[in-house]
Amino acid sequence: MPNTRTELSQLGEFGLIDKIKNIVKVQNKDTVLGIGDDAAVVQIPDNHLLLLSTDMMVEGIHFDLAYMPLKHLGFKAVATNVSDIAAMNGVPTQITVSLALSNRFSVEAIEELYQGIATACEMYKLDLVGGDTTASPKGLVISVSILGSALPQHIVKRNTAQKGDIVCVTGDLGAAYLGLQILRRENEVFKANPQMQPQLEDKDYVVGRQLKPIARMDIVHELAEIGVVPTSMIDISDGLASELMHICTQSGVGVQIYENKLPLDNRTLDAIVELNLSSATCMLHGGEDYELLFTIKQSDYEKIKNNAEITTIGFITEKEKGMLFITQSEQIVPLKAQGWVHF
Ligand code: ADP
Ligand code: MG
Repeated sequence: MPNTRTELSQLGEFGLIDKIKNIVKVQNKDTVLGIGDDAAVVQIPDNHLLLLSTDMMVEGIHFDLAYMPLKHLGFKAVATNVSDIAAMNGVPTQITVSLALSNRFSVEAIEELYQGIATACEMYKLDLVGGDTTASPKGLVISVSILGSALPQHIVKRNTAQKGDIVCVTGDLGAAYLGLQILRRENEVFKANPQMQPQLEDKDYVVGRQLKPIARMDIVHELAEIGVVPTSMIDISDGLASELMHICTQSGVGVQIYENKLPLDNRTLDAIVELNLSSATCMLHGGEDYELLFTIKQSDYEKIKNNAEITTIGFITEKEKGMLFITQSEQIVPLKAQGWVHF
């Protein structure tokens, strides 16, 4: 946190918007008009359909500023929205960011938040084209809306998985959840004794996965290159089991996935052992990995099988067979959803 503190009231709403405008540079040719007018103006590429999604993050519910630096919060608010566009197999193009702020936040703090937003915009080639700023009595609320586009034949929904399809997941699972557990543990230690330095050495990976998740746009581009359109897709925000159940319920199918196929990073495993947790539980129910979960036709298997970032974890069955998890010891257990419960 910088040492100087400028009050929001010194700068005013319009002064703040001017600062924001200067932090994020417009880079997309399809952005005709950005921040500053009553509405933004954007061009939709020929023959494409528009994708539109929004996500709200509320202090105390979705994040805790005790261990979530504002820069990371800004980055994460954008990345989670990009992930929703990726999960439709589309390309994101513009965002708007709306804030409710109390006077607890300084101008410098808001600049930090927007620096994170700007980093994510650069990474995903997005333009910040507007937003809204309002006062709040206490906490911080950040709401991001995102625009993207895709050709109609490339758009992938949740309700179109079919019996026989192969279930795939990108990256590895459970790391973001372990990162959150580590951050919470260190925060408790700090609250008990502020002299204690956080023990975060060799926790970079899991903590990083919690604080700065990466939306898998690389996979969207890769799938386009190898000519694979998944039969269904969703991003993993609430945990693998819960997302898989969305696909199955909406598609009217069943599924079998195998514990011994689930991708787990060694650094996540180390943290699981240290915290004495179950690896299956962490991989099935740990949220916020923002990996992609998708199904493909069997005939597309050859095209993805050598991709190190894609793991096949099971297959789609008829609905009557249910949604099943086959454990390491070959026990068959029904999948349960245990996603994040906010209420
Ligand atoms: P209006 O009164 O028409 O809602 P505002 O004064 O709220 O306009 O906003 C002026 C311009 O600044 C608009 O282009 C709006 O999209 C943009 N803007 C306002 N707040 C933010 C914000 N927090 N982040 C990015 N752009 C913003
Ligand atoms: Mg407004």
